[in-house]
Amino acid sequence: MKILVLNSGSSSLKYKLFDMETTDLLCGGTVEEVKDFDNAYEEIYERLLRSRKIYGIDEIDAYGHRVVHGGERFKEPVLINGNVIKEIEELIPLAPLHNPSNIKGIKTAISRSKGKPHVAVFDTAFHQTMPKASYLYALPFELYEKYGIRKYGFHGTSHFFVAKEAAKYLQKPLNELNLITLHLGNGDSITAIKEGKSIDTSMGFTPLEGLMMGTRSGDLDPEIILYLEKQINMSADEVDKILNKSSGFKGICGSSDLREVIDSADRGDENAKLAIEMFCYRVKKYIGSYREILEKIDAIVFTGGIGENSAYIRRKIIGTIDDDKNSKGEKEIQSDESAYKILVIPT
Ligand code: ADP
Repeated sequence: MKILVLNSGSSSLKYKLFDMETTDLLCGGTVEEVKDFDNAYEEIYERLLRSRKIYGIDEIDAYGHRVVHGGERFKEPVLINGNVIKEIEELIPLAPLHNPSNIKGIKTAISRSKGKPHVAVFDTAFHQTMPKASYLYALPFELYEKYGIRKYGFHGTSHFFVAKEAAKYLQKPLNELNLITLHLGNGDSITAIKEGKSIDTSMGFTPLEGLMMGTRSGDLDPEIILYLEKQINMSADEVDKILNKSSGFKGICGSSDLREVIDSADRGDENAKLAIEMFCYRVKKYIGSYREILEKIDAIVFTGGIGENSAYIRRKIIGTIDDDKNSKGEKEIQSDESAYKILVIPT
């Protein structure tokens, strides 16, 4: 069985073709500067045929679509039909930048695929097990009831996948494991997993909350936003741009790319050093609070571009690490005195 996995963004269409008998990745890529999904699919189909991994589009047995926001409605992947599309459309107010292009991509794929099944997989779904006490903001309750303002969490597919991989590696059922999973990349989030279920995560109503990220601020005093608008006369759009595009690593030291930041820090750039300190400090604060919430943990799992590749950052975050194993890029890297495993698992 071959599955084509698609991520329809606002200006790009990413794809990967998997052989599910072996779970091998057969090929994949990105169509950039997408204006029309029909053309983008044409391009993908041509690339797939040129790759000679398939010889006809009919060989694709099913399609998987990444959808950013599933709200409270979608708690797991779902077979797409007209109703599902309507319900994803109804969630557009919660994800105005992402759900519209996700839907366009899905509709085009369905129209071109001659009755093959399509499945939607939601970034938010894994976190739908969070208890109310964890996902509610201490705002007037009717804002939750009327407008759905609550923590949803994102990166769910990644947290769930590495949690399952950790369970395989530890040879224990996932529902017997307590884990803290750290997805550290351009966007960053951390999840507390109790007996296999997400019970808290650092991203919130949007992906802006939580850790310091490449260009996003993460947690801050919300009054700062009002201050920028009222005292400094910034527009809502300007503040939005600051919080999402020019904060985080970029805001503190000018680059959002950790490799560049580490190079600058090595050359003595004080703000690059500060940005790294701030990033690791905040990750540690979250690990500390999740450790207390979970009481017992079996493993901390690192993933994402930074989590998988930067031994330096892993070292700065975790005290009880085996430096040799960590720098060699081994999968299990805790030192002997660690009370739990420290794992590195590609997402
Ligand atoms: P995205 O969140 O866009 O999927 P990734 O998960 O690929 O991004 O993460 C990108 C980040 O990972 C960048 O900040 C990049 O500098 C960092 N990164 C990738 N490889 C390394 C490495 N070897 N050392 C340090 N940082 C790395």
